[in-house]
Amino acid sequence: MRAIVLSIGDELLCGDCVDTNSSWLCGRFAERGVQVCEVLQIPDDRERIAHAFRSASGRCEVIVSTGGLGPTPDDLTSAALADAVGDELVRDETAVGWIRDRLVSRGHGMIDSQATMGDRPTSAVLLRNANGTAPIVHRADEICRVWCLPGPPVEMRPAFEQYIAPELPPGRSLASQEVRCCGIIEADAAALLGELIDRDRTLPVGTRVSRGSFIATVHEEGPESDALLADVAARLAPWAYGGNDEGPQHDVARMLLAANQTLATAESCTGGWIGASIVDVPGSSRWYRGGVVSYSNELKHRWLDVPMTRFEAEGPGAVSGEVARDMAVGIRATTGSDWGVSVTGVAGPDGGTERKPVGTVWIGISSDTADVARQFRFPGDRTAVRRRAVAYAMQCLRFAMLETSAPLALEVGS
Ligand code: AMP
Ligand code: MG
Repeated sequence: MRAIVLSIGDELLCGDCVDTNSSWLCGRFAERGVQVCEVLQIPDDRERIAHAFRSASGRCEVIVSTGGLGPTPDDLTSAALADAVGDELVRDETAVGWIRDRLVSRGHGMIDSQATMGDRPTSAVLLRNANGTAPIVHRADEICRVWCLPGPPVEMRPAFEQYIAPELPPGRSLASQEVRCCGIIEADAAALLGELIDRDRTLPVGTRVSRGSFIATVHEEGPESDALLADVAARLAPWAYGGNDEGPQHDVARMLLAANQTLATAESCTGGWIGASIVDVPGSSRWYRGGVVSYSNELKHRWLDVPMTRFEAEGPGAVSGEVARDMAVGIRATTGSDWGVSVTGVAGPDGGTERKPVGTVWIGISSDTADVARQFRFPGDRTAVRRRAVAYAMQCLRFAMLETSAPLALEVGS
């Protein structure tokens, strides 16, 4: 079964509103084994919307539109559907009753423009919207079934669950299962995956890069896809840290729990983001002791025992391997943790120098076997640099725990 999603609204095409409806619908359809073959974004233009309905109906079995069901003149979905199928618009008095009831229950009266939400193409039916005023429009013929859902996600999502999900045949999930990696460039990851990413395979592996992570995906659930995922993860070890919605901190959590060990963090340019990402993992209190945001030199000294000489003119400076190591050692010592992790860097946009350009980040790792620091040069703006520093700090810790000497992309010689 194939579906086409039509996202309707001027606000989508001028960049004012991100089309989260279509990505959410694509995810839900994939889980139900329905392949979304197209997503179209269409402005509030009656002719264009009608054209989209007409042309989509020959190419799929299910069409879902979102948006354009309200009471204002730019809400044209129902009228456009009527045009597409050669219907008139008729007023549905039952639906007008629902609209009035809802408005009255909230202390309003109904005005004429709101009654227009009860208009439908003659061959369509209206379905009650449990979370808003505008009814859902539904029409089915032998070729295609159409549902027009409201635009606000809080109304659209429950309407999908109530009216569309029960109508879909049980199918094998096409939802993506991911293997996520940090610290390997796309070309190297692709080379490790080799023939697995050939497009003509029956179960191909998809790849993408998002926010510095390389992500490999398999799009079908079942024994073959499980074996394939395991193969992908094995080929991408040790860079692969986990699956859907995970960051390296999730694998750090698994490893620390298995080893019955604890961690503490000392952060400078990441400002607590590493700690925040760690406590995002449920149960982190079992292995995370806590951390400090030691932004100033003075607090690096007072809280972590970094010698003040580090910051003097002849010293290495706050962004250096020495200070990263001192910070990791200091936080491990003051908290009595098994592992100490630290970050100090130049996130920008100011503060870069020729020797330490913006994006220079040192990550320190301290344990009872070694105290080390690794230097990276991260691309992008302040947020991108800091986001990478968070992920790489956890990835450096993983690599230290795994005792691997595998390289990490963007590392620069020290
Ligand atoms: P409408 O039903 O067209 O009046 O849409 C009402 C509101 O729903 C818009 O102002 C947006 O805030 C939201 N909305 C509409 N379409 C989308 C979409 N595709 N993704 C996310 N939000 C949307
Ligand atoms: Mg609209």
